[in-house]
Amino acid sequence: MTRVALIAHDEKKSDLIEFAQNHEDQLQEYELIATGTTGKRLMEEADLEIDRKQSGPLGGDLMIGSEVAEGRLDGIVFLRDPLRAQPHEPDISALLRICDVHDTAIATNLASAEFLIEGLAG
Ligand code: PGA
Repeated sequence: MTRVALIAHDEKKSDLIEFAQNHEDQLQEYELIATGTTGKRLMEEADLEIDRKQSGPLGGDLMIGSEVAEGRLDGIVFLRDPLRAQPHEPDISALLRICDVHDTAIATNLASAEFLIEGLAG
């Protein structure tokens, strides 16, 4: 089964929720995981079942990265906030790096997220 991770920094959470709502039918077909707060909001505001990991600053990005290392994920939508420093910047870099190591698709903005979701459907 297709397995997808969804992550958004605080300033981008509304964008991710709107994205998920727009693709709800497709995402309902997938196993979904998310960082803690992102997952909570997605479950509240979209009709999606999410396996919630830790919040990003508490290790959630690393937990998702470990799934990448295990080859369990087909794609990640990670809407990053490019305008604010994050306390867990090293974890974010680690997630991006491990995606490159394993050639796992990761979209870090809405435009690329649209391509990613279309690619998964295709
Ligand atoms: P959150 O984590 O979904 O728990 O807010 C996201 C992040 O900051 O990486």
